Amino acid sequence: MSVTLSPSGSSVSATTAPRACGSDVRNIALAGHSGAGKTSLIEAILYVSGCVERQGKVDEAASLLDFDPESAKRKISVQLSLAHCAWDDRRFTWIDTPGSPDFLGDYVAALRAVDDVLLVTPAVANGELDHGLEQAFDLGHAVNKAEAIFINKMDRDNADFYGTLTALRQRFGEHIVPAVLPIGSGPTFEGVVDLITRTAWIGSGRDCRPAPIPEDMRDAVEEWRAVLIERAAEGDDELIEEFLDGQELTEEEIERGIHEDLLGGRIVPVFCGSALRGIGIRPLLSHLALEFESPDEIPDAEGTNPQTGKRQTRPCREDAPFSAFVFKTFADPYVGKITCFRVLSGTLTPDTVVRNAGKGTEERIGPLFRLRGKQQQPLTIVRAGEIAAVAKLTSTATGDTLCDRSQPILYPPIAFPEPRLTFAAYARTKSDEDKMGNALARVSEEDPCFRSRRDEETGETLLEALGETHLEVALARLARFGANLETRPPKIPYREALTRSARAQGRHKKQTGGHGQFGDCWLTVEPLPFGSGFEFVDRIVGGAIPRQYLPAIEKGVREAMARGVVAGYPMRDVRVTVDDGSFHTVDSSEAAFHTAGVLAFANAARQAGVRLLEPIAELSVTIPDANLGDIVSDISTRRGHVIGIEPADQTGYQIVRAHVPAASLQRYVSDLRSLARGRGSFFLTISHYAELPAHLSEPLIADYEHRRAEGNL
Ligand code: GDP
Repeated sequence: MSVTLSPSGSSVSATTAPRACGSDVRNIALAGHSGAGKTSLIEAILYVSGCVERQGKVDEAASLLDFDPESAKRKISVQLSLAHCAWDDRRFTWIDTPGSPDFLGDYVAALRAVDDVLLVTPAVANGELDHGLEQAFDLGHAVNKAEAIFINKMDRDNADFYGTLTALRQRFGEHIVPAVLPIGSGPTFEGVVDLITRTAWIGSGRDCRPAPIPEDMRDAVEEWRAVLIERAAEGDDELIEEFLDGQELTEEEIERGIHEDLLGGRIVPVFCGSALRGIGIRPLLSHLALEFESPDEIPDAEGTNPQTGKRQTRPCREDAPFSAFVFKTFADPYVGKITCFRVLSGTLTPDTVVRNAGKGTEERIGPLFRLRGKQQQPLTIVRAGEIAAVAKLTSTATGDTLCDRSQPILYPPIAFPEPRLTFAAYARTKSDEDKMGNALARVSEEDPCFRSRRDEETGETLLEALGETHLEVALARLARFGANLETRPPKIPYREALTRSARAQGRHKKQTGGHGQFGDCWLTVEPLPFGSGFEFVDRIVGGAIPRQYLPAIEKGVREAMARGVVAGYPMRDVRVTVDDGSFHTVDSSEAAFHTAGVLAFANAARQAGVRLLEPIAELSVTIPDANLGDIVSDISTRRGHVIGIEPADQTGYQIVRAHVPAASLQRYVSDLRSLARGRGSFFLTISHYAELPAHLSEPLIADYEHRRAEGNL
């Protein structure tokens, strides 16, 4: 097909009439707990569909999809990856998403690119579902994706298809219905029966042949087929009437019913197989090809006009103005930047200039390609509904909208999970330090769930991540950009506070050769309520100190407060009143009064007594009812106290609110995961400061004294 550019820079197809697009396109994200077999399943699909000649194996670090060094090293996907294949005249794009909660951001991003989600879960013996699966299911459901489930690892000794099915139906509902049943289990697992066509598919990999249904499965097949048909008929008046009349629905009618129910979220078909051995793949692909949602069936994409802020929509059609959403950026020091996007409307060809709607910049689109792992396959055009990639965009990052220059539209950004783990980072060498800024910018551009910021109070560079593995992976990526960083728990921003009011003198007198130095002031220091800030009051009468020296005294006081008096931590909420002093016409200077201010403040503060305060977080934890007792007692071991417990919106969950010292929550992300077995979430803000207990403040004060005595401050 030849292609021309429209005057606005968007591309149109020159030789074919505009068509409703995408009906042969399927964009599917694979999701579920880490280790469920998502990557293996895509590898099996690529092999069975004839796209690759050998099935990649994650265990041999020979997976096409786990191509990035961190995924290959850890044998878990740490970021999304893409693949594509064709089957039954449909063009599939697969997005393999990481299962660990540390990399949830990429699943959330993938949901912006796909229409369908295939959840993968192992066939578990005890029927207990993984939290990763539940979370992925709920997130996909919340944004109206069509969902199906693949029960994997049917070849394992303890595989229990029916137990897993029961657990799925109990957790998610009766609309979870099998579309296939397994033939055998564990070592005897050899294929599946397709409930719609009543065909057994036996064999593995590409060697998968139709066969008669095993005799001992006939009853189960009819029983579950009836359940499937009842569900499939439900969303369609015509079909439900036929069904209630006792008429046999044709295979096409059942497929149509399933398809409509999938669009409406009324059915979640269940498949099964073994990704490792390539069993059950063929029937899975055929069902997905026939029944899953295609891009032209979803509602028009909604955005706003970046100039007016007015709501706008774009249909998934080739003849609409071009618009695309960037869901992923890969940053690599050797390969450069790769931007992955889904075209929501119109078409795009290489050498087009498009607008980045949010940033107001323009980007020239170079060669377009689609990704299979890290392999790039060139494309001459990308149409609405399709997913593609482009290299070397300059200003575009994840979550941005690219659009036709003359018809701008801005799509909402991705609602990424908030990072909850914070560590301080230190460069190992001078060279690491030089590269740190650029590396941090690159890595956080690629992964918006990883952030860095400078803590004004402690002066540290803080790294924020979703969990410890996420942080480790980010550190490895930073190292690839030349910044080797060491992490430490962040310094706790303790503060010093006055215990009561006091008045003291600061007198600075020095006689050296010519001009001497002389400054002398009396200050009263008073503690103020938390958050009041600093007040400096001038009560000088009778010209005890000339006015021009007061700013120097105030500066000295502020400096002494910032430096701290007993343990090196800053002091905040204080009123300082200067009411007396003396001066010398020749020897007094701003510098001398500045020093007098420092001395007077330190003397007055010591006299008043200084205590240490620590930041207290208001913690809000959402956990299943069953974990309530454990969470509450854990909070008290962290020196916290519960201020309220209430039911959460999600049934079976409670929200516990508590005040807890921030210092004891530094690893709460990981601790909560093990306490609530991955089912908890939390949110915290610093709410106030409270006195640090003596057994904790005394060592800090002693250490400061020691360093001061050694001249080490
Ligand atoms: P992901 O984290 O969900 O992508 O899971 P992987 O595809 O990386 O697989 C995790 C582990 O499970 C690897 O050791 C795989 O070899 C293994 N695995 C995947 N699918 C199967 C299967 O069908 N049967 C068996 N026995 N093992 C499997």
